[in-house]
Amino acid sequence: MMRRSLFLSLVFGLALLAPGNSRLHAQANPDWHRPFPAFKIAGNLYYVGTADLAVYMIQTPQGNILINSDFAEDVPLIHKSIEQLGFKYADTKILLISHAHSDHDEGVGLIKRETGAKLMVMDADVPAEESTAPGRPGAHVDRVLHDGDTVELGGAKLTAHWTPGHTKGCTTWTMQVQEGRTLNAVIIGSPNVNPGYVLVGNKDYPQIAHDYVKTFSVLKGLPCDLFLGAHGAYFGLKAKYEKMKAVGGNALIDPDGYKAYVAEREATFQKEWKRQQQNPGSPAP
Ligand SMILES: [Zn+2]
Repeated sequence: MMRRSLFLSLVFGLALLAPGNSRLHAQANPDWHRPFPAFKIAGNLYYVGTADLAVYMIQTPQGNILINSDFAEDVPLIHKSIEQLGFKYADTKILLISHAHSDHDEGVGLIKRETGAKLMVMDADVPAEESTAPGRPGAHVDRVLHDGDTVELGGAKLTAHWTPGHTKGCTTWTMQVQEGRTLNAVIIGSPNVNPGYVLVGNKDYPQIAHDYVKTFSVLKGLPCDLFLGAHGAYFGLKAKYEKMKAVGGNALIDPDGYKAYVAEREATFQKEWKRQQQNPGSPAP
């Protein structure tokens, strides 16, 4: 009960501070905190997130890399998922994020304290990561990343693609996974224009619309076999997981689904951008 009221006061606190972020909280999805079975995606890449807030673990002989922490209250679920797979949460050496919004990064401070992992964040999201404002983790960033930087551990190599717009430092992670053949995994940071976002005449983020344009051009250029992202809803996590359990195979290998998703999100962005150009100052619904 305490937690709930604390959460609600954070929600209303954020409502005053940042309309975009607050709407995100106001639309709380029951799947955010719902447990989901941990499972192997392919090779050394595992899913250890909740039913919607995706967390990825890359397991190596030198320890593990985690992408995303979810909300602080979800960290015990992530811990449990890692251990259920037979790995050690304490072996988390590197912590990465999709972007600096609470549903993906609020728990990074907790994971850092519990495991000693090094936090690595795209340059333009570092101020939001280190901020102590409500809903922000206030966590020290150990390594500042730039577009195209790689993160390596125990033979695993991830590339950070700067895909801004949704946040200034929103990051799409790619890696190659060996599973019989080489699979290109793409973990989309976010292509979404949230309710409340201002694309035209945004004083805090003047280049926001052009950043989205850049992001779609980057996403369209990435080779993709394993279609993944910051939310399970981006790539149909639940349906694909059920399909894999029922009929086998790897439904997450979905290059056509990736292309269709990026095209649909780009069309949605373009439509909203056009609407705002005709109605300057009117935020996204
Ligand atoms: Zn977000």
